[in-house]
Parts: sequence; structure tokens; C-alpha cells
Amino acid sequence: MAKTLLKNLSLDELDSWMKELKLPAYRSRQLSEWIYRKRARGFEDMSNLPAGLRKNLEEKATLNSLSLLRSRKSGDGSEKFLFQLEDGESIESVLMPMRKHQTLCISSQVGCAMACHFCETGRWGFRRNLKQAEILDQVLFLMDRAGDSTFNLVFMGMGEPLQNYSTMLGALRILSHERGFGISEKRITVSTVGIPGRIRDLANSGLRVSLALSLVSVDEDIRRVLIPSASKMRIRELLDASEYYADKTQRQVTLEYVLFDGVNDRSKDAKRLREIVQGRPFKLNIIPFNPGETPVEMMLPGIQEARELRRPTPRKIDTFVGRLASAIPSVTVRWSQGSDVGGGCGQLRGRKES
Ligand code: SAH
Repeated sequence: MAKTLLKNLSLDELDSWMKELKLPAYRSRQLSEWIYRKRARGFEDMSNLPAGLRKNLEEKATLNSLSLLRSRKSGDGSEKFLFQLEDGESIESVLMPMRKHQTLCISSQVGCAMACHFCETGRWGFRRNLKQAEILDQVLFLMDRAGDSTFNLVFMGMGEPLQNYSTMLGALRILSHERGFGISEKRITVSTVGIPGRIRDLANSGLRVSLALSLVSVDEDIRRVLIPSASKMRIRELLDASEYYADKTQRQVTLEYVLFDGVNDRSKDAKRLREIVQGRPFKLNIIPFNPGETPVEMMLPGIQEARELRRPTPRKIDTFVGRLASAIPSVTVRWSQGSDVGGGCGQLRGRKES
């Protein structure tokens, strides 16, 4: 009989599974504590479980779904990890030390189907959804590596989290549950390219995690070219769903805006952004574009000649932010960490060649 990968189970399912082994409820609590709180690597570590039970668990269940292939440390202190999954696929995650906490950037899929032209993962394509255990094991591994700290978790690694919705929901419940990781929902951010129905589902799920929407462009036509999967999506619909999310959860939604030179950093873009954000429950996060390995040149609606996607100069970034800051006090700029080792936003890709 195939062994059960325990981190794929919800806490209720874990309780039922232990009950079938004729074990009392407190044993199941001890087991979840070992897995998620004490971060046990093997059943042999679970010192308050009787030896017979540990052996029984060893025969029926497994704990780990990832193995580390490689890690690369950036000059800024962040570290990128490449993991191998049981079927030979690979994913990346990033650990970023901040002043008062550590941020863990986690993947939700192997590859991504959203096909954003500016993102390495999108250009690589979609392989498969991650399982709950594979999501949770990234968190466990990075926490272990980071040591004692407060953690912020961002689902901004590989993949579109809302396309792996039910698995993500299961993972989020364990991440936030006091019997799981016990991370405050506010400290967990799900970033999405924008699937309005799923944003509403998440709003109605009872979880109150932070939501970030990758707006990227306020020009409908340009957004559709940069994000081919959004070809049928209206910006209006995405903003409405985000506003619904903010109302339901009482949390402001972050609009992520990847900034490209001459594409979406014009004064008319700033004006439209101000109109969108003002008076609405949104925060704005500008992410200066991180180039990938190969330059991307494309024709964009309303722009005369073909353009290579480039990061604007610091002066142009300042000018753009300056145009917003007077009207939007909550605008921030994200200087991606780890970009020197391909660990910045949009630079992740499962790959084994060095
Ligand atoms: N699929 C999710 C999570 C992906 S990455 C989403 O689309 O939101 C998280 C953020 O990084 C998104 O806002 C995305 O637009 C941004 N991003 C992707 N590629 C980038 C790049 N090359 N430079 C800067 N930001 C990028």
C-alpha cells in the first residue's frame, strides 16, 4: 500500500487518519505539533511518541516531499533555493532577510500558465500544480534555514496561486491555524494575475489573508499584450473583485505595478493610476522591472515602434513615483531582493543546469 504523505492532509483529515489507526485525539495533536511547530524531519525525532507508534507511522506514512538541489546567496543577504520534487520536477523559493522579519517567497505551481512576457516563469510555461505538502515543505525548509524570527509569507514565487485554488486554500488553512504554523493571516500575501471569480471565492473563504493584484498596466490593450492570459479580462472586473475582497476581509488590497521604461511609466499612466487608487481600499506597490536572461522586444498598442522591455532609470522611477505620491500616500517601491542570483520578482524558473 502506498504511504500517506501527511502534509497533503488537512488537520481534520490527519485526525481521522490517526483515528483509523485507533489512536486517541491527543496523539494526533502531538503529531501535528511535531510536523508543523517543531519541524521534525523524521518520525524518529518525535520523542514523546512511543517507539512502537513511531515505527508504525514510519511504515504507513512519509513526511518530506522536497529535496534541496542547490542554493545561491545574493550579495544583499537573500538566498534562492532550487528543490527537486518526487517526480523529478523542480521549483524555486527565496528567503529574504528584512530589518524586523524574514520574508519567504513561495511557489504554488511548477511553471506557470499565465504566460506574462516579462516573467521568466511565464516564458518557461506550465508543468503542473504543486501539492499541499510541496507548498508547506518550502515554508518549513526556509523557516529552518532562517532560524528564530517573525515570518512574512508571499506567494510570489513560481505559478499563479489562484489557479491551484483548492490546494492553496488547504495550505493557507494550515499555515494560519494555531495547530499548524500559526502565522497571522495578515502576514500571508497571495499575489494573483487576477481571476475575478477566484478572488471572490477567496474573499468568501473565511480566511483573511492579504491579497495583491498584479495590475501591471492601466491600459487595457497593453495589459492584454503583456499578460496574454488576461486577454478576456477587463481591468474594471479585476478592480471590482479586489474591492469586494477588501470589503469582505477589511484588508486593503495591494496593486502591483511592474514598471517598464516608456511602456507604462508615462504621465498619463500615473494620472490613470491616481484615479484608480484614490478613494478605494487599495495600496500601490511599484516593482521596477527585473530583466530576464533574454531581452524581450515587442510591439505594444499605442506605441509606435517595437520596444525592448527595460527597467526605467532611477530618475524616471523617481519621477513616476513622485507623480503618484502626492495623491496616494501608500505608494511603495519594491526593490526586488536577490536579483543578482536570479531570485528577484519574475526571475524564478525550475532548472537544474547551473
Ligand atoms: N502569478 C502571481 C505571482 C507571480 S510573481 C501574479 O501574477 O501575481 C509576483 C509579482 O512579480 C507579480 O506582481 C508579477 O507581475 C511581478 N513580476 C513578474 N515578472 C517580473 C519581472 N520580470 N520584474 C518585476 N516584477 C515581475
